[in-house]
Amino acid sequence: MSVATAYPSQLDALRRQDPEMAEVILAELRRQADSLQLIAAENFTSPAVLAALGSPLANKYAEGYPGARHHGGCELVDTAERIAIGRAEGLFGAEHANVQPHSGSSAVLAAYAALLRPGDTVLAMGLRYGGHLTHGAPVNFSGRWFDFVGYGVDPETGLIDYGRVEELAGVYRPKAIVCGSISYPRHIDYAAFRDIADDVGAYLIADAAHPIGLVAGGAAPTPVPYADVVCATTHKVLRGPRGGMILCGERYAERIDRAVFPFTQGGAQMHTIAAKGVAFGEAAAPGFAVYAHQVVANARALARTLAAEGVHVTTEGTDTHLITADTAPLGVDGATARGRLAAAGVVLDTCVLPYGEERGIRLGTAAVTTQGMREAEMERIGHLVASVVREGADGARGARDDVRELVGRFPPYATLS
Ligand SMILES: *Cc1c(COP(=O)(O)O)cnc(C)c1O
Repeated sequence: MSVATAYPSQLDALRRQDPEMAEVILAELRRQADSLQLIAAENFTSPAVLAALGSPLANKYAEGYPGARHHGGCELVDTAERIAIGRAEGLFGAEHANVQPHSGSSAVLAAYAALLRPGDTVLAMGLRYGGHLTHGAPVNFSGRWFDFVGYGVDPETGLIDYGRVEELAGVYRPKAIVCGSISYPRHIDYAAFRDIADDVGAYLIADAAHPIGLVAGGAAPTPVPYADVVCATTHKVLRGPRGGMILCGERYAERIDRAVFPFTQGGAQMHTIAAKGVAFGEAAAPGFAVYAHQVVANARALARTLAAEGVHVTTEGTDTHLITADTAPLGVDGATARGRLAAAGVVLDTCVLPYGEERGIRLGTAAVTTQGMREAEMERIGHLVASVVREGADGARGARDDVRELVGRFPPYATLS
């Protein structure tokens, strides 16, 4: 089945009414299938998730929570949200789940709103080392409304220095400690963070936006028993619709719910909540554990190949879906590497590196693994990435064709339907 036939009836209707927009959507479908998706935060949702997203639940206003809405006619969307909540709680062994946050950032905003007051001190990974915008960026609400102190990673090993985190916690006595990153390739020691938080009487907020899908598949340790509040996205390795989620214990449930609605959001997006429920259902099936472990095996194979090609892989490997690497040994910085790769049809991001100001590249294996690629393909991708970074898309002769040939054998919507 081709990508374009994954949800044909909706597309046909759109094409008839609005060919201009339909063409953009079709072109984007083609782009996703025709190039190599190595952006670590992306994945391919299933046709079932897309069907829920494109459903008439998009029409429904539903402020509030199941059984306590501010609008009439919510009986059926209440059922949809209860299903999604129950599946999330079961999947992650959490006492309470809130599935309404519109995004990962909205989830973090609500967690801060539930536990903190403006002006409070928060200890989080510095942006310079892989912290997210919501971990104290001056251009973000977090940096404006809270007093953030940043911890880093060891410049040599690239690993979190837990001794240093403990020291900073002792000096600054934060009200909350945030663990989680956009580019940390290793497992986070949640028990160590819990101990540090307990020592200074701080809340522990785990921002598990990236690894939560691996957690669902049993391929990464869970923050749920350790953190007071776990924030997550549903669209990264977890492979659901674009959105956020919060997990917590019973004691914070009411505060979290009120922090999402009515404090930071209005009406819930019921089509997205239904799609989250579908994704949680998929993630609870045995096949998802196989998927999550293959994602990690693939990332390790890709990291090994890149290292063998002379790329400097941060932390000398990965525990997760995510790899960060310095391309300087191949003669170019991260931004140049990304540009050369884009010209060859390889799509990825730049990222911070543990040392200096130069940027590296960040790669992830969630999407290519959904397509069905395995270690052999990762080795091929590693060699291809290195040769394109070294020589440019023109220098690495046939690179664009190689990418086309490879992805052509793994159409994203054929393996999922
Ligand atoms: C992706 C991510 C987010 C935010 O997700 P959005 O849905 O883009 O708002 C927050 N924190 C971390 C650590 C992330 O990786």
